[in-house]
Amino acid sequence: MGRTGRGGQRDDGSQVIAESAPDDAVSASTVPASSTGPAGDSLRLTGPVLSGLALARGEVDRAAHLRADADWLKAAWADPATRVIVVERGQALCELADQHAVLAFIAPPEAPDGVRFLLGVEADGRAYFGVAGPLPEQPGPGVRPAYLREAGPLLSDRDAGLLTHAVALANWHETFTHCPRCGSPTDPIASGHSRKCPVDGSEHFPRVDPAMIVLVTDPADRALLARNAQWPERRVSILAGFVEAGESAEQAVAREVAEETGITVGAVTYLGSQPWPMPQSLMLGFRAAAANTDIHVDADEIAEANWYSRDELAAAIADGTIRLPPPVSIAHRIIETWYGTELPGSW
Ligand SMILES: [Zn+2]
Repeated sequence: MGRTGRGGQRDDGSQVIAESAPDDAVSASTVPASSTGPAGDSLRLTGPVLSGLALARGEVDRAAHLRADADWLKAAWADPATRVIVVERGQALCELADQHAVLAFIAPPEAPDGVRFLLGVEADGRAYFGVAGPLPEQPGPGVRPAYLREAGPLLSDRDAGLLTHAVALANWHETFTHCPRCGSPTDPIASGHSRKCPVDGSEHFPRVDPAMIVLVTDPADRALLARNAQWPERRVSILAGFVEAGESAEQAVAREVAEETGITVGAVTYLGSQPWPMPQSLMLGFRAAAANTDIHVDADEIAEANWYSRDELAAAIADGTIRLPPPVSIAHRIIETWYGTELPGSW
């Protein structure tokens, strides 16, 4: 990795020490909450491309053509059928049960002040908005604030997509408030999907940081799992890191794997992607074949890295030697594509 200084407030309130990697991956630095639950009916474990990822399931039309239509927006906000989800510091109100969650929408007149964004329009014409503002103080029975990491895998496809979209925009508006050209405060436009500088007229779009995450396998089809130097004992995942400026995702895979473990990769295969707006990553998932098996870890980044056969992985999980990332993460799903069936995730 080697990049630091992008620290920020995580959605669990803890400070990221070196937010130089996505937080469901081995280069992350703090502890995500554990999460369990189904990742969607379309779960595919052995196919060439991942589907049904927990945070990549949106089904509401984003209706980008309506974002600048002031008359339509005004009418939609006045429509009693319209639903609003409020996001505050990465959390939204949800009704949560063991294996299921539902977003606790409110009507537009109940929404707090704050940046408003059009999330989309359903086939029946119902509009959905997000508002970045304080959560309602007296939620109904069974309703409480929840982070995307917790609620995401338990929500329906519709609600998971709406909340992922809303959290990503809310995080961006919270952070990118000023013009990078002249330093003036900027104004939200396009229903919260961009910001404009009133001084020089420049327009700025939501920041998304691409990060690659890769399962490396050796000629014996063993998987490479590693523990970040800042993680507690037993926690392991696959390798990951941000794509650098002027670099392709595939080049980032080869560079990160070599830097962190001394392994040279040959063929690199794309598997799928998942937004990870905590605060602003897009995870690009890969498989890669190792050309050598001697591991030399970069001790600054990686505490340990080892090859696991399927039997060795199952045994290590069963006896508590290692713990895998939660099912909401693309890391967990990529490991399952190699293993061949579902695995417990217990971060
Ligand atoms: Zn400006």
